[in-house]
Amino acid sequence: MVVILLGPPGVGKGTQAVRLAEESHAAHVSTGDLLRAARRDGTDLGRQAQEFMDSGELVPDALILGLVREHLAGIGPETDVLFDGFPRTTAQATGLSDVLTEVGRQVDGVVLFEAPDEALIKRLSGRRSCPDCGAVYNVHFNPSGVDDTCDRCGGSLVHRADDSPETVSRRLEVYQEQTAPLVSYYASHEAPLERVRADRSVDEVYTDFRSVVGGIR
Ligand code: AMP
Repeated sequence: MVVILLGPPGVGKGTQAVRLAEESHAAHVSTGDLLRAARRDGTDLGRQAQEFMDSGELVPDALILGLVREHLAGIGPETDVLFDGFPRTTAQATGLSDVLTEVGRQVDGVVLFEAPDEALIKRLSGRRSCPDCGAVYNVHFNPSGVDDTCDRCGGSLVHRADDSPETVSRRLEVYQEQTAPLVSYYASHEAPLERVRADRSVDEVYTDFRSVVGGIR
């Protein structure tokens, strides 16, 4: 099963994906996490992506599709995949569909997480992420047990540079311009699209998310 988690930055896709992947042994594929790892490792891709990420713009489609293709090659055909933050453009969606066809798979469902902009801005300002394992916390809604330390792996939590107010407003614009059109793309093309109201507690959202994914299976 291949499921896409769609929704604006800060809506909580990463938190939900990590939880479901852990519970169901699915592969969580976050292009944002893969790009941040490439930057930390100092790879060519990391260097090429840096400027786009820091300004809140999208990294070019060809780089993203290459990254996803390479990453998918390491995931067995029986493993469920949860895509988080990918695809983000129509070109990425068609590219994904080609890559999946090559390995005899397809997009089985899309889950759209929705919340008003004010809620997203508040969440992003309080977000703390673990650079080591990808876990996401929020100082207001979902704090870690010990300040600035990851509950899962003990890593030191960071406030991402692109969660600053200036970059956040650009990221929200980019979402509306380039990613929101995927809602009608998937609704009319390929896969059932389910909506989840995400301006609620992590547990409430997870209950809905899990049941929606259960319906896609
Ligand atoms: P995220 O962690 O998903 O919010 O991504 C952080 C940043 O990485 C984004 O603002 C983009 O600059 C870049 N990025 C992540 N995923 C993609 C993607 N699928 N396409 C283009 N850029 C991406």
